[in-house]
Parts: sequence; structure tokens; C-alpha cells
Amino acid sequence: MQNSSSVLKNWYSEKNPINLNAYQALVVIAPYGTKTEELKKLLEPAVSTKVLQFLKRRKFKFKASQHISFDISSKHKFSCLILPKKFNTFSSLELAREVLSPLKTDHPSTVVIRIPALLPENENQWIDSFVSTAVALNYEPPKYSLQAALKKPKKDSSLSLSFKFSHSRLSNAQKVAMLSEASALKTNLVRHLTQRAGNDLTPLVYVKTASEMAKNAGLKTEFFSISDLLKLKAGAFIAVAKGASENSSGILKLSYHPNKAKRKIALVGKGITFDTGGNNLKTGSHMFGMNNDMAGSAVVLALCLLAAEEKWPIQLTGYMAITENVLSEKSYRPNDVITSLKGKTIEVIDTDAEGRMILADTLTLASREKPDLVIDFATLTGSVIRALGTQYSGGYSNRKYLLSLIRKAGVLSGERVWSFPNDKDYGRCLKSEIADIKQCRLTGGVDHIEAAYFLSQFIEKGVDWVHIDLGAMEPEEPLAHIPKKPSGFGVRFAKKLIELSK
Ligand SMILES: [Zn+2]
Repeated sequence: MQNSSSVLKNWYSEKNPINLNAYQALVVIAPYGTKTEELKKLLEPAVSTKVLQFLKRRKFKFKASQHISFDISSKHKFSCLILPKKFNTFSSLELAREVLSPLKTDHPSTVVIRIPALLPENENQWIDSFVSTAVALNYEPPKYSLQAALKKPKKDSSLSLSFKFSHSRLSNAQKVAMLSEASALKTNLVRHLTQRAGNDLTPLVYVKTASEMAKNAGLKTEFFSISDLLKLKAGAFIAVAKGASENSSGILKLSYHPNKAKRKIALVGKGITFDTGGNNLKTGSHMFGMNNDMAGSAVVLALCLLAAEEKWPIQLTGYMAITENVLSEKSYRPNDVITSLKGKTIEVIDTDAEGRMILADTLTLASREKPDLVIDFATLTGSVIRALGTQYSGGYSNRKYLLSLIRKAGVLSGERVWSFPNDKDYGRCLKSEIADIKQCRLTGGVDHIEAAYFLSQFIEKGVDWVHIDLGAMEPEEPLAHIPKKPSGFGVRFAKKLIELSK
């Protein structure tokens, strides 16, 4: 599925010189303001003569944010990144991608990264940026080729990193690097699952795959099948799922409950394994790519696995709402009136707004357990992309304090989220003459904000809630450290948000 061997190779300290034959590239991170003399001190004697000659020939002037790269020999590349005066997580991830991308070759290669003493928090940031980028560059999409079917091993082109630090900083650096790698591998898992074909990752296969992964990680699993959901009267979920081709849809609940956990957090994810729009059938270009409509639930799975792996000191419960939205004689239709798990009736307007239907009941289920915070993830609306492009995802909440925390978690994680209002008047357009609420409006409006308002109506009273509309899941351009879509957006962001929301 993905390269599971570690991207981290050797750790060098001052006492333990770099073996020049063991790497293909050397990258030096030089602090802002570095000049030739300081650079010389950062280099191994065998390299420094060549580098300084090169810089002299080029009449090189040191400037901030500069990235120089050249061949020291036929087998070795040298790269130096002079840091800008100011940087944040997003820009350092971006810079790490600019440095490492050209070093990813068609054969295995090792890059030694030398990070001289920077401010401690910046040092951690640069370690994280390079490790996360290397893992992202090593990502391989799922392959359905004959070669893959015959299980012929593919040529190894993985990139690995070695680091050089002073002895006293080595153990901190190793800890940071390992945490970064674990998160980045989970982002790759999200990317992998969202790229699986819709006829491969069906609801049946998805439930089975996710359950197995969760059990192997020591998580408790519980599956609410269609018959369970019928008994619970989860009509909004059933409305979408009854059109699905197999009767294998349902809500997969994953629990990570360590002893003495002080906080309870619930995660909810949209898991539409393919979205044709249903009776409001999408047209060609709008339907293409709709195998990614389960990305939100993949983020939930990834976070639950990560929590168990890293032994987070919180109680985490994940709810993956898994089905498909297809056209069949049983599919729900516009003008249908559906009774949700919460008891509220919904007037169906457009069957392509299926995400908010399955999430409505799943959010009720999750919020009934009274967690301290519910966070849901969904590729919910096209209108969030019209508002923000694919660079940011949209954040929404029923609490003002969480709106600023959402933006802060976006800045600190490098997965940027912009927050939108959730004032009552956004709900006026959802007044129905025949039911408690309309699913959406027919045309116009600000669907991403109105969808969030709709979802907020299904949260149990007193429960804090954040909704993330994953507009940045399929970025048109490289995004931060991610060279190519899908981005797997959400793991970095949510880990930071959970940390901040203490
Ligand atoms: Zn849809």
C-alpha cells in the first residue's frame, strides 16, 4: 500500500562524522544572515572547499530565502537553504519541498540534513518540515496495473533522511522526527484511501479495511449496520444508504479509551465511497473524481490510529459514516420528508447534498455521548472552494472561541483553515413549510455556511462542535509539502487543534 519502512536513516553528531560515501546529497540549513565564513563552519572539510570555490565562481551574494544547489561530484549534490527572516509552518513546509523535490530520483537516495543551532522551536519546525516532506514525496498512489497484480516489486525510488546535530540536541531531534514521520504516514494513508477506485473501495471493503486497521492498532470497533440504524431511527443516514448497491453501509465507531484520560473528543467523518449525486445526477466533469468523497472519514481513521500509536492522553472516539450516493429505484428523491435520528424532519431539496444527511445523524450519535468537543471532517460543498480556492479548508463552529482556535491551529500546523460565521440568520433560508428544516436551498446562497448551519441543528445541546469542509483535499497546485493531489488534508490540522483545545 505504501512504503512503511522509515524515512529516517542515520543520526550524526559532531563526534560522529558523516560518511561521505553513504549519501547522495547534503543539505545545509543556514540561518538568516549567514555569510561565507559562517557557512564554511557548517560544512565538512571535504565539502567546504568545493562549495566555497563554486560560490566564488558564481560571485554568489547571500540573500534570505535563497536556495542554491549544485553537483559536488558525479554522485553527490549539495544544497543550501538560507532561511528567510520570518517564516511560518506553511512556508517552511513549502521551502522543504522546494529543496527536497529535485533530490527525489528514480533510485533510492539518502539526503543528509545539517541543521545548525537555531532557536529550539524553529529547529523542531525545520526537522518536522523536512521529515514530513520526505514522507509526502515517497507517497505512491494505489496501482491497479498488471505488474501490481502479479506482485512484481517495483523499483525502489524512496528518499531517506539522515540528520546531523550537536550531541546535546540529538535526542530531542530524534523524538521530533519520529513524531513527524508518524503523522506524515497517516496523511499518506488518507491520500491512499481517497485515491482508491470507487469499485475497489466499496462500503463493504472500506468497513472491512478500516476495522482491521483499527483492531490491529488496539482500538475497539463497533459497527452500526443498516438494521441497527433502522432500529435507532437514523432516517437521514438511511435515506442516502438505501440507494446503495450493497447493503453494507453503516457507521463504524472506533474507540481509543486510555486509562485516566481527562478529556473526551469525538471525530466524525463523511465516508461516501462514490457520489453520483443520486436522483440529482451529476454530469461528467462534476462526477469524475467522486471516489474521493470519503476523505473526511479517512482523516478520522488516520487520527484514531495515530492516537493509539502515540498514546495520546485523551479519550478519542471516531465515527466513520460509510455509504455511497448512487442512483437506483430505492434512492431518495427531492421533496421526500425524512425523520432524522434527533427527531427533526428534513425536507429533501437536492439528493446531491447527501453529505449533510449522513453527517446529521452521525453528529447526533456522537454528541449524545457528551464529549468535550466534536470535530467533523467532510468534502461537503463546492461553494467552500469558490470562497477560498483549494489552498485553504473552511472551518465552522457553534462556539466563538473555537473559531479563533481553528485559524490558529491552521497557522501552526501549516494546513490552513479559514473560519466562517454561524449566525442564526444564515438559517433563515432553510425554513420549510412542511418540515422542521430544509436540507439546503435550491439555488444561490452561501452553501458552505448554510450547510454548516444545517449540521449545527443536529448537535445535542451544550456540546462544542467544529466542522471542517475539506476544500483543500484536491489542491490544483502543490500545497505546502504535498507535491501533488490528493493532499490528505486534516491530520496535521486536527492534531494541532486537539492540542490547543485543552
Ligand atoms: Zn453529493
